[in-house]
Amino acid sequence: MIKIDHLIKRYGANYAVDDVSFSIGEGEIVGFLGPNGAGKSTTMNILTGYLSATSGTVKVGGIDVLEDPLSAKKMIGFLPEQPPLYLDMTVEEYLNFSYELKNCKLNRTKHLKEICEVVKITDVYHRVIRNLSKGYRQRVGIAQALIGNPKIIIFDEPTVGLDPKQIIEIRNLIRNLGRDHTVILSTHILQEVQAVCDRIIIINKGKIVADERTENITRAVDSKRRFNVKIVGPQREVLAMLKAKQGIVYAEALAERDGDAHTYMIESEVGLDIRKNLFYTLAEKNWPMIGLEALGMSLEDIFITIVDSSEEKKKTRGRASIEKKVAQSVMQSTAQKQMESNASDGKSE
Ligand code: ADP
Repeated sequence: MIKIDHLIKRYGANYAVDDVSFSIGEGEIVGFLGPNGAGKSTTMNILTGYLSATSGTVKVGGIDVLEDPLSAKKMIGFLPEQPPLYLDMTVEEYLNFSYELKNCKLNRTKHLKEICEVVKITDVYHRVIRNLSKGYRQRVGIAQALIGNPKIIIFDEPTVGLDPKQIIEIRNLIRNLGRDHTVILSTHILQEVQAVCDRIIIINKGKIVADERTENITRAVDSKRRFNVKIVGPQREVLAMLKAKQGIVYAEALAERDGDAHTYMIESEVGLDIRKNLFYTLAEKNWPMIGLEALGMSLEDIFITIVDSSEEKKKTRGRASIEKKVAQSVMQSTAQKQMESNASDGKSE
């Protein structure tokens, strides 16, 4: 559905995109990731026909975007990070306006009605956009992207600023759209990629540094098991037990305290699920476990690890070493992150 070959975009002596090649099949949902300045927008803008390339080819549904940008654009729906909404319009006015702007030829009433049903905005169709919640506004933005039935939809950070319930709803919506669309999702949130994408492409300094099935990257993250465990009992003794326990390779007491319960971060041996065993040990000691939370790793951490690895790729042993480095860097960052997130718990929207 999308085929990019040896794409180069140069600004003066600077390569914004430096020999990028990848293809995306029909119905795939792909996460496109990278830090600021990596070349994501440039690639997306070339892909959507808004920017010319220095060299290389970009084909969308068999159409060469650089030769025929107008036809290519018709195949793509785009939801920018800030959807271009006109706040004073009603949803109805806005979608009709977008319909005309796109010069859509489909049966207007039927098409807009169908889209509203898919993105679940039928009940706010006559409301002014300004008065809608951010979640609904985002859906209106997605509705706009769906006008004209594009086969490819590109989402740029679609859940930023949404509350947890809205995030789940938008992710579900993206997944559902992925059933009959090719989807590119630009996000920096690992959970989002895990929840939504089949595949992750990571770009850095204009070059692709990873192109993997999602499960391969998340397996690397999960290859060591890390938990925050909340246990009622004397902190020093509990910690000593955790440190001495077979199968636990790391244990640390966190500052967090909840009455007579303390939280500990533990890491078990690779491939070992310590949870049941730990439960029985704690029960024997009469130290109730009142919380157990699996710890993830932020995409930034994975990203840094992969980028670091890729920058000395030739010297390393490829993927296995990336996975190892990913696993290693988790522990360094998780404690800090977890404490920060614990501190902000309760303040979440
Ligand atoms: P991202 O979207 O990943 O943040 P961009 O694609 O916007 O990255 O930018 C990639 C690189 O190209 C950056 O170094 C940026 O400074 C440079 N760049 C982007 N647009 C221009 C431009 N119009 N002129 C000069 N340099 C540009």
